[in-house]
Amino acid sequence: MGGRGRFGQDGLSMVDVTHDGTPKWWPAENCCVCRTPTRFWFTPRDVALCPPCAETATESSLPTKTEWFAAERAHAPRTFVNYDLINELATARPPAMS
Ligand SMILES: [Zn+2]
Repeated sequence: MGGRGRFGQDGLSMVDVTHDGTPKWWPAENCCVCRTPTRFWFTPRDVALCPPCAETATESSLPTKTEWFAAERAHAPRTFVNYDLINELATARPPAMS
């Protein structure tokens, strides 16, 4: 999956996004549509969604949280989570984390 798209068909729909209130130094999540780092969230789905995308998105056009996470992980590991290290730890001993 890549690029832009999955926008609302009628161009009139809009979903509400909420600022997550995190401080400036906290890493921003990538928008689930355009992957621009954003601090705004579409809370019914619990996915990050930037305001420009929210203007054209419909709820049905947005990925689920699971789909969003899978897409993000496929694209690049998040900088503040070292997945290689987690995998290393998970194979070195019984996984203690969910
Ligand atoms: Zn976006």
